[in-house]
Amino acid sequence: MELGKTYDPKAAEERWFQTWIDLGYFKADPTREGPVFSIVIPPPNVTGQLHLGHALNATLHDIIVRTRRMQGYNTLWLPGTDHAGIATQNAVEKDLAKDGKNRHQLGRESFVDRVWEWRDDKGGKILLQLRRIGASCDWSRERFTLDPGLSRAVNKVFVELFKRGLIYRDRRLINWCPRCESALSDLEVDHKEAQSSLWYIRYPFAGGDGFITVATTRPETMLGDTAVAVNPDDARYQSRIGKTLRLPLMGREIKIIADAAVAEKFGTGAVKVTPAHDFNDFEIGKRHGLEQISVMDSHARMNENAGRYQGLDRDDARKRIVEDLRAQDLVEKIEPHPNKVGVCSRCGTVVEPMLSEQWFVRVREMAERSMAAVRDGRTTFFPRRWEKTFFEWMENVHDWCISRQLWWGHRIPAYRCDRCNHLTVAEERPPKCEECGGTDLVQDEDVLDTWFSSGLWPFSTLGWPEDTPELRKYYPTSLLITGFDIIFFWVARMMMLGLEFMNDVPFRDVYITTLVRDEYGKKMTKSKGNVVDPLDLMNQYGTDAVRLTLAQLAAQGGDIILSHERFAAARAFANKIWNAARFVMMNLDGATKPLPSVDQAKLGLAERWILGRLDAAVHEVTRAIDAYEFNVAAMAIYSFIWHEFCDWYIELSKDSLKAAGERQAAARWVLVACFDRMLRLLHPFMPFVSEEIWQVIRPYLSDANLSEHLVVAKFPVPAATASPEDEAAMKAMSQCVAVTEAINSLRALLGYHPGQRARVAYHAIALEDRINWFPKWKNYAMTLGKAASIDHVEAGRNAFERSVGESLPFGEVWIEAPEEFDFAKAREALRKRQEDAQKHLSRYTTRLEDPGFHANATAEIRAENAQRIEELQIQIRTLDSQLERLG
Ligand SMILES: [Zn+2]
Ligand SMILES: [Zn+2]
Repeated sequence: MELGKTYDPKAAEERWFQTWIDLGYFKADPTREGPVFSIVIPPPNVTGQLHLGHALNATLHDIIVRTRRMQGYNTLWLPGTDHAGIATQNAVEKDLAKDGKNRHQLGRESFVDRVWEWRDDKGGKILLQLRRIGASCDWSRERFTLDPGLSRAVNKVFVELFKRGLIYRDRRLINWCPRCESALSDLEVDHKEAQSSLWYIRYPFAGGDGFITVATTRPETMLGDTAVAVNPDDARYQSRIGKTLRLPLMGREIKIIADAAVAEKFGTGAVKVTPAHDFNDFEIGKRHGLEQISVMDSHARMNENAGRYQGLDRDDARKRIVEDLRAQDLVEKIEPHPNKVGVCSRCGTVVEPMLSEQWFVRVREMAERSMAAVRDGRTTFFPRRWEKTFFEWMENVHDWCISRQLWWGHRIPAYRCDRCNHLTVAEERPPKCEECGGTDLVQDEDVLDTWFSSGLWPFSTLGWPEDTPELRKYYPTSLLITGFDIIFFWVARMMMLGLEFMNDVPFRDVYITTLVRDEYGKKMTKSKGNVVDPLDLMNQYGTDAVRLTLAQLAAQGGDIILSHERFAAARAFANKIWNAARFVMMNLDGATKPLPSVDQAKLGLAERWILGRLDAAVHEVTRAIDAYEFNVAAMAIYSFIWHEFCDWYIELSKDSLKAAGERQAAARWVLVACFDRMLRLLHPFMPFVSEEIWQVIRPYLSDANLSEHLVVAKFPVPAATASPEDEAAMKAMSQCVAVTEAINSLRALLGYHPGQRARVAYHAIALEDRINWFPKWKNYAMTLGKAASIDHVEAGRNAFERSVGESLPFGEVWIEAPEEFDFAKAREALRKRQEDAQKHLSRYTTRLEDPGFHANATAEIRAENAQRIEELQIQIRTLDSQLERLG
């Protein structure tokens, strides 16, 4: 096999992914010995399309899974999708609506069949997209929350919780979406600012004279009022408590009651009480034993309890009611009133509090156990600050409403007896009523909240309730990587249910990712049109470049800001490695396979140095991956390969490669050894290009246990300690590197042509450096610094008549100016450039003081302005130090 002129990402990606799958490298074997590393994927919605959040999540997962696999762990990464109740049902309903149909016309059974068809046809595309990004899941273990096995787990958990008294049924006020026609949990309701009004309505006394004025934001629900309430301490109403009012429009008699929950300052201090349509009123009603009168149906249209308003939707009803009250002179005034309204997080419809009978999970105790598990360190959050968020939510948790009035999902395993109305809860349809033995049983119409089944994901996917080898081997899982937005929805529920049913936490570590933002720091949304499609990025830059960029940007706790330059730089990095590999292969022409081993004791300074630097990189990458510092790991591997291996060692090796005999053999061996190790290190980040190159290097490696493919090769282990010789060599070479860099920047300052060689003088402060090391690295610095000579001189500035110099921590470097170089003119030119830069800078900084700029500039323009200021400041500082050197 040979390396082509340029790297072709697409071909490599397809070839290697298929090969890895065909050879079963991603398959988990629970019977294998060894330490365990397991992850269950956060199941994307079956309706999902890969977005950058998924791409980031999958990349981070894959980096750690590939690393652990190469480190010899028994590794499982289990993939799958979530049936996503409301989201999927809505998608299919939209499809139906195009043909002018709705689900009720189809009926439950055909509608559910239709959703399954949709799922088989259009759903689950996201898993193919995850393969595209290189996700090394065990694809033979794909799970779906509605699989028979997982559904069995759902029923079992429901029945068990019911038996333990942790699931109960209650008639309560719940959030209801009239469009989705379903109950929503508190978490599924978004709160939106709205400009509403406060209506002051007169309620006449039943006895005849006078009235009391109540203030309300919802005149339409007054049809369901069963009391008016005032604060017991409110002096204005003391004498009115207990009196009877006649409810306008309905004529019903209601009482004035006293309740401490009423705020004296709100409106008139007297409020109407509608227990069936308001959460506070519901509580007041319970305390006073008030009747609950629901005046709307499931579409939020007025129902039979609404008298002549029956059939109107709630907005029309409001208008008509206010008109009618006005006609009777019962509206005192209307004030503007800013308000927060709850809307359905799925469809944006204003949520209606509705009285209904629902299933609830009692969560208090489970929440306590979950908090204790985090406090004990059985589960740890990265970054740690998310634990605070987790505790805050868990401390304020309410019982969880788990029933949904949908058709797509797990139908609740409860059966109502037609004869005695008793509910039998059972995993399978029972043959008869457990109470009266009647056989006419009707299953509960509702389905479970979609998070109920995803809350079981870490153990239901491993075969629970069966006692499977997978469950024993891979539970608790090692790590969960997920977005902060579902800590409550999902992470908390998995904690509660895992502890309840497995008696252990579902995962040891939780890594929370943050938002991916565009290059101007803005959140990506469809409406802003700034959404970047990861598939486009993969096509444009190659999958490896996309993965590396995402990893580089994934700093713990910081948002991720994307720009195309970043991806382009990562693609350039892939090409850099490719070209380095081509250089190595060219220089292996005629070499034996495998390469003969070399005497390590005879390695030169540069060889010892690069091997030592690589060891340091292995150390840092390993440490950073273990700490989930993905960006640190990615930067360490990147800067080693680019700035040490390519920029320095390849150059340093050129002389040796041209020589014959031992020197050439040693340089070849070190090039191959370095390439092998750094490709292993790089593989988790850039799996495709690393495998492609490794296959070409592989024949030169001598290792009895060498694997066929890099994907399962051993991950490098850093040497425990370096020998004193190696340490000395590292120090000496770092001096050589610094001197060479100084020579190169001084050459540029003095206007040397690329082919022109300069005379250099060097003074080492330490005697040992001068005697032992300078003679050993001098030739490297001469070659790489294009020096005609480097002579050691005593301290002082008089090495050459005309020269510039630079001080380093361990010595000083001077370089002779070329004859034609004019110091005065050069200084003049630098000053001119500095003046220009100053002028530019002041133009950008004065803008900042202009109020008009702040008012009108877009975020893009402001970001650009800030960037220009920074660039110019750096330029001015550089020119300063150059001027200083010219004296
Ligand atoms: Zn809705
Ligand atoms: Zn019965």
